[in-house]
Amino acid sequence: MRRPRFIDPFQPAEVRRLVGEFGSPLVILDCERVRVQFRKLRKALPGVDLHYALKPMPHPAVVQTVIEQGGYLDLATSGEVHLAQRLGVVPDRCIHTHPIKREQDIANALAFGVRLFVADNPDEVRKFARLSGEAELLLRVSFRAPGAVCDLSRKFGCDPEDVLPLARLAAGLGIGVRGLTFHVGSQTADATKHVEALTASAKLIAAARRERLGVLDTLDIGGGFPIDYAQPVQDIGRFCAPLRVAVAKLPTRVRVIAEPGRYIVGPSAIGVASVMGRARREGHWWYYLDDGLYGSYSGQLFDHARYPVEPLRDGEERLPSVLAGPTCDSIDVIAENLMLPPLKPGDLIVGRAMGAYTWASASEFNFFPKATVVAVNLRPGDTGSIAPWPP
Ligand SMILES: *Cc1c(COP(=O)(O)O)cnc(C)c1O
Repeated sequence: MRRPRFIDPFQPAEVRRLVGEFGSPLVILDCERVRVQFRKLRKALPGVDLHYALKPMPHPAVVQTVIEQGGYLDLATSGEVHLAQRLGVVPDRCIHTHPIKREQDIANALAFGVRLFVADNPDEVRKFARLSGEAELLLRVSFRAPGAVCDLSRKFGCDPEDVLPLARLAAGLGIGVRGLTFHVGSQTADATKHVEALTASAKLIAAARRERLGVLDTLDIGGGFPIDYAQPVQDIGRFCAPLRVAVAKLPTRVRVIAEPGRYIVGPSAIGVASVMGRARREGHWWYYLDDGLYGSYSGQLFDHARYPVEPLRDGEERLPSVLAGPTCDSIDVIAENLMLPPLKPGDLIVGRAMGAYTWASASEFNFFPKATVVAVNLRPGDTGSIAPWPP
């Protein structure tokens, strides 16, 4: 029989095998699913270059898979710059998008070869005054998005009316202004805000071009593309439909790029935790897992996500149950009021859609180590290649 091109590491037998080999807790990262997500978004946004934002899952295997697919990177810290550098990524494929940088962060990115940076205020623009030949800027605009789960326009971005003055400042200092960037927020329900921001940015670009304030040939529409958690969302083709219309109306000389994070990695990983022990309290079975809110489930706090969780074991009988994390803190509870089959120590619990903002924001509170990330299907045609990480 022909061996399959890829294993499906989310199948129960594979999950058990990987836990047997690498221990628990695990985050199982499937690079084939990264490829599928990348291609789906590329199909939904034809002509838009996709810069994977490393922040939700800064794993080398994701970076390599995105690059292998012809993608680009959105780097925001010196750590992310060093990772891309260590992996031999061509610096032309990277932009640096943190609006606030130390001189050393700029120097590290420049030393790697990154040329395009983001600024959203006069002080930050002035940091590039001595680098006018080496670096160019995208100016970050803020369009408030009260509907988004995480409104990223609150902390960063200048008001639309400050764009032209900022561009004039940059032009006056001899700094090249390549265009504008925005990030309307993560896990947005529909593309309304993206379209509004894109349309408003296009007008600002046209105004800045009329004043000859720079090349202004780039519009970066940020991330925010949503995925299914416990609540399903619009499929990506439908979500992007109004965006495709808006992009098509732009002048052809404007290159559009996006910075997807969650959409690429969220569905591409599952979290696997083990029952450490159990207790019956007030009519409920409490199961204490080796991963929790201070670990891979940290996204339930920081990212307001609700991961679909289920035991790997099946059973007819269902009892009211609580899944709790391992730490001694009482807020460390993953899910309550679940109806689960009776579980024993060593039983495995799987959380779905746990690739984004999970392991990345986990801590080692109480000395419970972070989950090991195991990347599977690293190369196409390579059945079940595996790399645990950190090495
Ligand atoms: C976090 C972040 C992203 C990724 O956002 P997602 O909602 O995960 O797609 C993109 N761009 C910037 C500037 C970010 O800070």
